[in-house]
Amino acid sequence: MNQIERSDNQPEFDAIIVGSGTCGATIARALCRRNKNVLLLERGDNAPVNESLLRMAAVMDEVPLGEGRLATMRAIATGGSTGLYFGVVNYPRPDTFSRLGIDLGADFDAVRQELPIAQLPEALLGDQNRRLRESALALGHAWQKNDMLIDLAKCDGGYRYEAKWKARSYVDEAVAQGATLISRATVHKVLIEGGKAVGVEYRVRRGLFGSETRRVYGARIILAAGELASPQLLRDSGVPGIGDRGFYCNPGYAIYGLVPGLTGRSSFVGSMGCSYDEGIELGDANVPQHMLRPMMLAGFKLRHLVASTRSIGIGVKVKDGFGGELRPDGRLHKTFDREDRQRLDKGRAEAIRILRHAGATHITDFGVTAAGRVGGLVRIGEHVDDKLETRYRNLYVCDGSVLPDDMRGTPTLTLVCLARHLSRHLLATL
Ligand SMILES: Cc1cc2nc3c(=O)[nH]c(=O)nc-3n(C[C@H](O)[C@H](O)[C@H](O)COP(=O)(O)OP(=O)(O)OC[C@H]3O[C@@H](n4cnc5c(N)ncnc54)[C@H](O)[C@@H]3O)c2cc1C
Repeated sequence: MNQIERSDNQPEFDAIIVGSGTCGATIARALCRRNKNVLLLERGDNAPVNESLLRMAAVMDEVPLGEGRLATMRAIATGGSTGLYFGVVNYPRPDTFSRLGIDLGADFDAVRQELPIAQLPEALLGDQNRRLRESALALGHAWQKNDMLIDLAKCDGGYRYEAKWKARSYVDEAVAQGATLISRATVHKVLIEGGKAVGVEYRVRRGLFGSETRRVYGARIILAAGELASPQLLRDSGVPGIGDRGFYCNPGYAIYGLVPGLTGRSSFVGSMGCSYDEGIELGDANVPQHMLRPMMLAGFKLRHLVASTRSIGIGVKVKDGFGGELRPDGRLHKTFDREDRQRLDKGRAEAIRILRHAGATHITDFGVTAAGRVGGLVRIGEHVDDKLETRYRNLYVCDGSVLPDDMRGTPTLTLVCLARHLSRHLLATL
């Protein structure tokens, strides 16, 4: 291992951004548009992400949460988790940020103008989506279409991965405008001097087995490594109280059945759904066929693998309380209380009722394996201020880890707004 040290420690960059996902990409683009000198350090590689089995296996990172086979997913690649996400939009409640002293109004309007947002037209729904909707509506659920970050002009009559908006497009724009992107570079330490963040230390992979440790210095350091990585980086930097209340992870089920005669086709996951009860969400989990088959194979659901076009799926996601811990080695360990388990049981039972009513047989699930967004480890107003700055000057955090506790829905659109909010502050001070 080769350690590169600088003698003067002078900033080489206006901003060093750790992670090129939703927030990192948005900030990099905003700063580069105003000619700032930006370094993006990204743990993953820079090859384009697609939904081929090989590529998905390379970028998908399943992070265990300690409770049984419970795990959450993220993508490790340029563009971060939007490389794998579904594109469902939830909007922030008006007071979610204003009570923390953050006004996202103008950013929200601008983001809504810029990003492609649409509901799926009927022509893009498959048999399985319609059958699920009919069943849910017949049982009294307010099953409705969700807004999605999808460009309908790119759908070409069916499901297209390319139609989903992805943060990668912002990274590409930032790089075209002069940002330096270093891939396969994992930041493991923030360099602090005299109460100020001055740089980061990172390990960059070289070839198949080699790596090199380097230090780089910048006027502003922005942690945008995602909800799973930034809390640990903050704690390692000496920010106290990270994870002291445990965390939530929005656990749930993906439940599938087979409907005789159904001729499903690939469609966008999460295009429809409803709130079932206090803290229980049900959604259309009909993943595209090329993803359904490997999923069934991995779960040894051979009947569902063979009959995948007859498959119909529903997702259950529940609001869990704070529990568990962020361990010293960085691993998360979740515990559920009685209320969490009751919600999980109730949601699962209702999902099965909807599937049965839709005519499904051979109903099966994978256990409580799927967790949604992990949150509650970093808090605005406590660990970071309303400018997202930590107790160390010039060290900022902007990613899913800082979202307020009442923001449990799908976060991407909100994160783009929050990243714009921070970008404005950075531009005003650089
Ligand atoms: C399967 C799936 C489906 C989803 N569906 C939806 C949806 O429908 N709607 C929605 O709004 N959201 C969805 N999400 C969530 C959404 O994609 C993320 O919440 C959002 O992209 C988070 O943005 P971020 O900037 O916080 O982090 P990320 O986009 O995760 O980016 C973090 C980046 O930092 C890099 N990184 C991590 N550690 C380091 C390190 N130490 N050094 C350098 N780089 C590092 C990572 O490789 C990654 O590129 C989904 C996520 C997944 C996995």
